[in-house]
Amino acid sequence: MSFPKDPSFRNDLRQRGYRLTPQRERILRYFAEIPVGTHLSAEELYQRLLEEEKISLATAYRTLKLLASMGLLRELDFAEGHKHYELNTNQESPHQHIICTSCGLTIEFLGGKLFETGQQIARKYEFEIIDVQFKIFGLCPACQPPPKKR
Ligand SMILES: [Zn+2]
Ligand SMILES: [Zn+2]
Repeated sequence: MSFPKDPSFRNDLRQRGYRLTPQRERILRYFAEIPVGTHLSAEELYQRLLEEEKISLATAYRTLKLLASMGLLRELDFAEGHKHYELNTNQESPHQHIICTSCGLTIEFLGGKLFETGQQIARKYEFEIIDVQFKIFGLCPACQPPPKKR
């Protein structure tokens, strides 16, 4: 299932009891149009959409949460005190993130076997998977303290 090309997309959602309202669809479309690797917070989405969309910050929060629970967006927590969102484009092999805790630099990398491992664990506990996220936190080269001089 991928947005917005797959025609089974809407049926699939309906079967799961979700409705893609025009506003939800516009927000998804917005995520589809911004460059890959952009992770938006609710505040950022709100700021960017404000001009065309009569949307409140509360609605932005609620809609993003909902789209994430529908499996259309990924909800990412980079330990900054607020969530980021991105399109959930490749559910078979979602990318993962390495995050600098000092400057916030976030790099995406391919998850490789991580998703498979996540599936195995989910199966074991009889969970239906929404997303598998693997995060590495650390200091990027620019933020690392210089080596001590002797
Ligand atoms: Zn990402
Ligand atoms: Zn850094």
